[in-house]
Amino acid sequence: MPVVECLDVGGTHTRYALIENEKVLVKERVETRCENAQGLLDFIQEVCVRNRSRAGVSGVNVSCAVLPGPVRKGVLLNAPPLGLQYPLDFSCLEGVLGNAVIIENDLNAAVRTELEKGVGRTVDSFYLLALSTGIGAGIVLNGKAVKGLAGEFGHCVLDASSNAFLCACTRRGCWSAYSSGKGLEMQARANGFEWSASGVFDHALNGHEIACEIVKRARAFNARGLGVMVNALEVQAIVVMGSLGLNRFKEVVPLPGEVGCFTVNPVPRIVKTALADDLGWEGAYFLGMDFLDR
Ligand SMILES: [Zn+2]
Repeated sequence: MPVVECLDVGGTHTRYALIENEKVLVKERVETRCENAQGLLDFIQEVCVRNRSRAGVSGVNVSCAVLPGPVRKGVLLNAPPLGLQYPLDFSCLEGVLGNAVIIENDLNAAVRTELEKGVGRTVDSFYLLALSTGIGAGIVLNGKAVKGLAGEFGHCVLDASSNAFLCACTRRGCWSAYSSGKGLEMQARANGFEWSASGVFDHALNGHEIACEIVKRARAFNARGLGVMVNALEVQAIVVMGSLGLNRFKEVVPLPGEVGCFTVNPVPRIVKTALADDLGWEGAYFLGMDFLDR
């Protein structure tokens, strides 16, 4: 029976699962370590070796890692949430792990899970919007997940003014610079505060003026960004995932009326995913099984 190793490498946490014949043998959630490209490869190898040994598994058929950045032909082109600005080829891991290694954009994988097990069972066109360390969207149109370089809405420039905030992608004024976890931290830093994204919300709850301003701006830019998405394609739902999207939904996800200020198309319903933390690694599992079925 095939053994599939799944990794969802996020900007903050990495989720791992080792699955044999549809049974999860071992699962782990650890902090992502990525000081540079080689550091990320070492980290992935370390997580795999540790969990294989925990599960007592010696042979794996395929390892599938999903990552927060565009992927083309097995190469991660860049990953701003991981601080990687240059292409990274993962094929060198095949030698050390002793099996095929495939990679995919995390949202292209997550959208597959939402299609098979979530909102995809009731509608045939939807967005899966990740509001997390970064911002991006998976797209399903007419029952099919859009593949390849797509859905990088987080890097749409929504503020072209000269004092626009800096984005992790090195440009200025992107949606992500205003509303992603990394963006919230960078805005806090620009004001002299070393706050984490959740720290920003904690300070806002306590009425801190700068923190309140950052949260208010994040919501306002989410309305503009969602407006861009609604104008781009006709979908029946926008499903929200990611740590900010799920844990801070009420604070940062605008109501359809707020989004409607920026659209010519009607705004569909905007809902939280019911699948939460499992979207990424389960998507990796589907992709791993596709690879073995080929
Ligand atoms: Zn950007």
